[in-house]
Amino acid sequence: MSRVSAYLLNWLLSNEYRPGRLRHLLWPHAHPALIAIRRNALILSRIRALASVFAVLTVLWIPLDLLTLPAHVAAILAVIRVLACAAFFSLVAMTHRKQTLWLAYRSLAVLYAIPTVFYFASLVLLRTPGLGPYAQIALEVYWALPVVAMAGLGVFPLTVLENTAFSMPILMGEVLALNAHLGVFFPGGVVDAAWMMILMSGIAVFVGVSQLSFAMVLAGQSINDALTGCYSRGSVSELLDLHFKVCSRVGSPLAVAFLDLDHFKKINDQFGHDVGDHVLATAAQSIQAALRGAECAGRWGGEEFVVLFPGRTTAEAIQSIEQIRAAGLGRVPGGRAVTVSVGVAERTDDQCGDWRSLVRIADQRMYAAKRAGRDRVHCPHDSDVVTARVAYGS
Ligand code: GH3
Ligand code: MG
Ligand code: MG
Repeated sequence: MSRVSAYLLNWLLSNEYRPGRLRHLLWPHAHPALIAIRRNALILSRIRALASVFAVLTVLWIPLDLLTLPAHVAAILAVIRVLACAAFFSLVAMTHRKQTLWLAYRSLAVLYAIPTVFYFASLVLLRTPGLGPYAQIALEVYWALPVVAMAGLGVFPLTVLENTAFSMPILMGEVLALNAHLGVFFPGGVVDAAWMMILMSGIAVFVGVSQLSFAMVLAGQSINDALTGCYSRGSVSELLDLHFKVCSRVGSPLAVAFLDLDHFKKINDQFGHDVGDHVLATAAQSIQAALRGAECAGRWGGEEFVVLFPGRTTAEAIQSIEQIRAAGLGRVPGGRAVTVSVGVAERTDDQCGDWRSLVRIADQRMYAAKRAGRDRVHCPHDSDVVTARVAYGS
């Protein structure tokens, strides 16, 4: 079943869908941290753009109301419009604060709540008898507003679950308005209106999910290193910053390992750059295959990698590194095993005040491991060789 859905998705979204990522399109829980941050920023920036446009359009309509409606109704509508405009502008200010998913949800709810309140208030006002032909025309076309709102959900890169959750209140609002006989005219009645809204919601889900999958591919390309598939240096720095802040706040450990392949230049010189590239990619795969949960690896420079162990102690990080070394980092064409020198640092053991000093200390220990003969690990509390080069590698 999952194979069939993966095949179908691959066929439908050829360059956008990556196998195994179906759950990323269904709900937001499994999104990798950096993808989630970029998606939140995208949702918030679109909310900002829409709220700014709505804020201006809402008040631009006041003169038309004044020209076509009785003065007292137009005046009440003008007050509602100014209030809606102010609410839209406060939403614009609110979306600048942070880039969390919770703020994105709240802002989206507010973006939809403002026109909904405006919709119901206008319906109640305009159904007063004797307001003239304009009020009647407005009422007859007002049923379309929730349909437009539903279609507008497609602007946001939302998962199926999120899209469904946001479309339900819009659907209910339309059915409620029709059922309450607020003057809204829909040719086919409530059932047809509800059916149409469900169809619109389906389209919004499809558009939102294809936007999400495209945004995820673009974000993935921008955060990963093309050769090794690890995070790029910029992305891993962002993750270091994020994890350092979180671990400092909750008082948990954060270990970092700095890995540098040994005598890599010789591999290039002896077998050529392409073989060097292949060795690099294989080593990166071996490192990534051993990581669990929030652990992640980034390419720091040419043949240097940084591995993050959020919530892990020095001992736990060393254990993981030893597992990577024991499993092997690949071989060069002659059969010789690729080896690595590693420096490990830990936030609390090394009393680091920021992530940069954590990486600097790990880097210094990696150089100490090089000086001590390569193919080994250096860590806090122990400047001696932790693992002898004869253990793996040869
Ligand atoms: P050490 O054990 O002291 O680390 O020696 P080393 O030869 O590994 O280190 P050195 O810094 O002297 O050389 C690193 C080499 O990595 C030099 C550079 O040409 C090569 N390199 C950097 N990036 C890439 C890459 O993307 N592909 C390939 N094939 N080689 C690269
Ligand atoms: Mg190096
Ligand atoms: Mg090296």
